[in-house]
Amino acid sequence: MLCLVVTPTKTTTFPHFLIVICPVCLSLSQCLVLGAGPCGLRTAIELALLGAQVLVLEKRESFSRNNVLHLWPYTICDLRSLGAKKFYGKFCTGSLDHISIRQLQLILLKVSLLLGVEVHTGVEFQSLIEPSGDNGWMAKLQPGSHPASTFEFDVFISAGGGRFVPDGFRHKELRGKLAIGITTNFINRHTAEEAQVAEISGVARIYNQKFFQELLTEMGIDLENIVYYKDATHYFVMTAKKQSLLKKGVIKQDFSDAEELLAPANVDEEALRCYAYDAASFSTGGKLPDLQFAPNHAGKPDVAMFDFTCMQRAENASQVREKRGKKLLMALVGDCLVEPFWPLGTGIARGFLASFDTAWMVRSWGLGTPHLKVLAERESIYQVLSQTTPENCRKNYVSYSIDPKTRYMRVNLSSIQAHQVQHLYIVDKSNPASKKQKNRFSYLRQDSVSGFEELLKWCQKNTAGYKNVDVKDFTQSWRSGMALCALIHHFGPQLIDMSALDESSAVHNNQLAFSILEKELGIPPVMAASDLANSGQIDKLSMVLYLTQVQKAFALPAK
Ligand code: FAD
Repeated sequence: MLCLVVTPTKTTTFPHFLIVICPVCLSLSQCLVLGAGPCGLRTAIELALLGAQVLVLEKRESFSRNNVLHLWPYTICDLRSLGAKKFYGKFCTGSLDHISIRQLQLILLKVSLLLGVEVHTGVEFQSLIEPSGDNGWMAKLQPGSHPASTFEFDVFISAGGGRFVPDGFRHKELRGKLAIGITTNFINRHTAEEAQVAEISGVARIYNQKFFQELLTEMGIDLENIVYYKDATHYFVMTAKKQSLLKKGVIKQDFSDAEELLAPANVDEEALRCYAYDAASFSTGGKLPDLQFAPNHAGKPDVAMFDFTCMQRAENASQVREKRGKKLLMALVGDCLVEPFWPLGTGIARGFLASFDTAWMVRSWGLGTPHLKVLAERESIYQVLSQTTPENCRKNYVSYSIDPKTRYMRVNLSSIQAHQVQHLYIVDKSNPASKKQKNRFSYLRQDSVSGFEELLKWCQKNTAGYKNVDVKDFTQSWRSGMALCALIHHFGPQLIDMSALDESSAVHNNQLAFSILEKELGIPPVMAASDLANSGQIDKLSMVLYLTQVQKAFALPAK
């Protein structure tokens, strides 16, 4: 499996990226992403860039959401660097800082497909299927016969949106005062007249008392705030006060419980349309000519009312489950992690941050970091998510990467300690395979070595038969330098005299091998010869990285 490292540049065919093969993430594996909303797709892209095989499941048949998302400056920069402008020429032209959900999904879908992500629509995830027999973790899908139901994975990302809670995760309810949101979309004919109407990028009542008072006096419409964006449609989102909805007959009967209050049976659809129409027309000074509702996915006028009284926030962002020795890293992203209050326009911005944080976690997982450390770091980063604003994020947007420190100004990656997340590592105790490894490599994940098995086999094959060489791992076996010299000798006998080497001169042997590999193959050493010779200081990952480059260089035909 290859890992792609993407550097923002304009030198290659893929829009704005130089894609090179990175050897470090060879052990990354199969990822299932639930939901092809913006955050599911954005996460899928990062996972594919890490070299994972990624499959996305989406229950909808098509992307048809007109509603418009506010973009923070960094998200605009991020999407531009993914080639958004190439896929959608109108992307954030001028001072535009928003995009319709549909258009955003289409951009991200295209990038995903280019990177080899498999996206399946019209298929619903129902539950996880635990490993049995030789099978690993799989998903129960609807339809059950869907080809994706045979996909085995070791990373599961839930990006199923607001109220979707996968098994094993708990959501906290953040109950505020009653908040009723209304969204509506009108057809944009893109005329010169329409183009002149000013957008309203978030007016709250406290900042424009006069406007809201006039709206109430003249139209009987009482709002807390309103946003108007001109995009593929004319899009409005507003928070309406209950009393005015009751007075205008939008809500038929008053209930103290928000769910009962906004139940479809208690809402007069026609009155809701009039309410939304009047609010839109008044707030744009009646300048939008011939306002006509845009159709929603069902072909009906696109007006909807939502309850924001109770917002959901996941207690934890991650979890590891282990059954029959097979581990599954689970994570939540997007609205599924923290439900946003739409009029504030935080959904995509915080959603993408969580996508990057999740990819960072998957990277650590792929690199063999101990489970509890992976979880503790993810939960530490999750602590800062809800406080992020455009102001307190780092301003050097082009330097953003999945490394949290490139994005958050103040993030402590170890504010939560491993012992505090033990409950997030759920092991089937009856399983003997899950017993703790007592060997000296117990600080590494058991499966982390197996992730590099092919490389290990290649090293073993090409050093077989050499005296004082026995490659069993990526650390101790390389200490004396004999294995590295043997590897060089195998491919270039003229480069090194094996008979002149002394197993006990470890520093000398390592230095010799490093120098030859640097001079002949252009591979710089990844550690000091004395570090490699010192058994306590061999970094497995550095060694894997180094040997992967050696393998690649020797695999190339001689010039
Ligand atoms: P979503 O965009 O909700 O995507 C989740 C995806 O998962 C969906 O496509 C869903 O079909 C799919 N899915 C769910 N369950 C399953 C399953 N079991 N199997 C397979 N697929 C599944 N934000 C704003 O700022 N302004 C708005 O006006 C606005 N309007 C919205 C209207 C609606 C109806 C919704 C649901 C959200 C709206 N949002 C709005 C929120 C905004 O869309 C999200 O913040 C943003 O899209 C990021 O969300 P996401 O990718 O996490 O989830």
